[in-house]
Amino acid sequence: MTLARLPLIPELDRYAGDDLKVVSPIDGVELASLRADSREEIEQKISQSVEAFSSWRTVPAPRRGELVRRYGEKLRANKEELAKLVTLECGKILEEGRGEVQEMIDICDFAVGLSRQLYGLTIASERPGHVMQESWHPLGPVGIISAFNFPVAVWSWNSALALVCGDSCLWKPSEKTPLTALACQSLFDEVCADFPEAPKGLSQVVLGTAEQGAQIVDDHRIPLISATGSTRMGRIVGPRVAARFGRSLLELGGNNAIIVTPSADLDVALPSILFGSVGTAGQRCTSTRRVIVHRSVFDLVFEKIKSAVLQIGASKVGNPLEEGTLVGPLIDEGAYKNLKRAIEAVRPSALEIVGGQRVEVGSGGFYVHPALVKLDRQVESVCEETFAPLTYVMPYDSLAEALEIHNAVPQGLSSSIMTTDLREAEFFKQNSDCGIANVNIGTSGAEIGGAFGGEKETGGGRESGSDSWKAYMRRQTSTTFFGTEKPALAQGIKFDV
Ligand code: NAD
Repeated sequence: MTLARLPLIPELDRYAGDDLKVVSPIDGVELASLRADSREEIEQKISQSVEAFSSWRTVPAPRRGELVRRYGEKLRANKEELAKLVTLECGKILEEGRGEVQEMIDICDFAVGLSRQLYGLTIASERPGHVMQESWHPLGPVGIISAFNFPVAVWSWNSALALVCGDSCLWKPSEKTPLTALACQSLFDEVCADFPEAPKGLSQVVLGTAEQGAQIVDDHRIPLISATGSTRMGRIVGPRVAARFGRSLLELGGNNAIIVTPSADLDVALPSILFGSVGTAGQRCTSTRRVIVHRSVFDLVFEKIKSAVLQIGASKVGNPLEEGTLVGPLIDEGAYKNLKRAIEAVRPSALEIVGGQRVEVGSGGFYVHPALVKLDRQVESVCEETFAPLTYVMPYDSLAEALEIHNAVPQGLSSSIMTTDLREAEFFKQNSDCGIANVNIGTSGAEIGGAFGGEKETGGGRESGSDSWKAYMRRQTSTTFFGTEKPALAQGIKFDV
C-alpha cells in the first residue's frame, strides 16, 4: 500500500515524519509514517479552537445543523472509500467498516434534528412577578480522544453533537489509526470551505500518542474532555481533568455478559452470542466476554457455541477485505500476547479451552482462532477485559445468582438476557448494573438513538443519542423580575432596611 492509494487524504505529505508508524493489521505493511504535533503546534491549535468557538457559538443552532447535514452528505458520497480505509487501518471486516461509516451518517442526521431542539425549561417561580428559566449555552472547545477500534464513529458521536451545540472540536485519534482521522478531517475541511460561517479551526486533528493527548487533557481552555479507550487510560485522564475542574465524559472498557435462561429461544440467542464473541475479532467495547448459562441447558449451549466457534476458526478467519471473512486480524502483536496471557491465566481453572492459537492467512497480521473457555464458576482473571475474541462460558442455578455473577466484575457497559419469560426479563433489567441492558439482543453494538455508555470502571459517560447533547452545553438558570412592586426575596426572607 503506497500513500498514493489514500485518495481521501490528498495532503498526506504534509503530515509525513518519523513519530507514528501506521501499520495495517491486515498484513503488517507500513501504510504511512507521520509526525506527531509538537507542543507549540498543539498550543496553536488550542488557541485557534478557542477563537473558532467565539464565533461559532453565535451562529444560530439550525444553521450549525446545516453544516453537519452537509457533512453527512459528504460521508454518504465517500462511504465506501472511508469504510475501506477503516478496514485497512484497524482490520475490521469491510461490512463492519461500512457499518461504522453508516453510524457516522446516522449521528449527523440525528444532530441535524437536534439543532432545532436544544430545548430549555420554564420553571414556576415561588415569587410573584418572577419567571424562572433554564437554558443551554455552547460550552467551549471539546477535546475528543478516541480508541483504535472505532476509529471514526466515536469521533462523529461527539463532534456531530458538539458542533450543533455550538462548540469547536479538537480530536486526538488513536496513534494506531491516525489516517482515518486525517481522512475525516479533509472531508470536513471540504464542507467548511463552502460554508462561510464556519471559522478556521472549527474542528482539528492533533496527531500523537498519550503525550499529545495529555496536553489537551491538562489545558484549562478545554472545558470538556470526551475520552474513549481503556480503563487504564481513564484512570489517568479522569483525575487530571477533575484537578482543573474540567468536565470529562469517559467511555472505557467493558466486560459484557449474556445470560441464557432455560426459556431462551436458542435460534435467537446463538447468533447474538457468536457475533458478540467473535465479531470485530472481539475488539469492541461491547463484545461479549462472558456467557452465563442456566445449568439445565449449560452443556447444550456450550456445545452449540463450540461447534460454531470451531467452524468460524476453521474457515472464516482471514483478510477482512475479502468477502466471506467474518473475523479479521487483531490490531497488533500486543493484542495477541494479551490473549495468550489471559488464556494461560485461566487455564488452571478451565474445564475446557477451544481455540486461541494463531491462524496463518498468508500475510504478516495477527490472526487468531476465536477462543472459548468452559468454567464451572467465574474466576478472578475473567474480571479483566481482554480485548480479543475470548469468551468464558459458566453456569448458574437461580436468576438471582446469575445477576450476582453478572455484576461481580468492575466494568458496567453492556448486558443482555436471552429469555421468553417476561418476569425474568424485567428482573434482569432492574438488576443489571450496566448502562445498556438488552433483552433477546446481544451485548455488541448499539443504535445511535440511545444514550451510549456504562457504569463503574466503564466511566459513567453517555454520548450519542437521547439527551447526551447536554454534556456539550452549559446549563444556565435565570430568574427575571418583571413586576412593578418591590421584588420579593426567595424563601420569603425579609431584609428591609
Ligand atoms: P487506549 O486506552 O490504549 O487508547 C485510547 C486513546 O487514549 C488513544 O488515543 C491514546 O493515545 C489515548 N491515551 C492513552 N493514554 C492517555 C493519557 N494518559 N492521556 C491522554 N490520552 C491517552 O485504548 P485502545 O487500545 O485504543 O482501545 C481499546 C480500549 O478502548 C478497550 O478497553 C475498549 O473497551 C475501550 N473502548 C471503549 C469504548 C466505549 O465506548 N466504552 C469504545 C471503544 C473502545
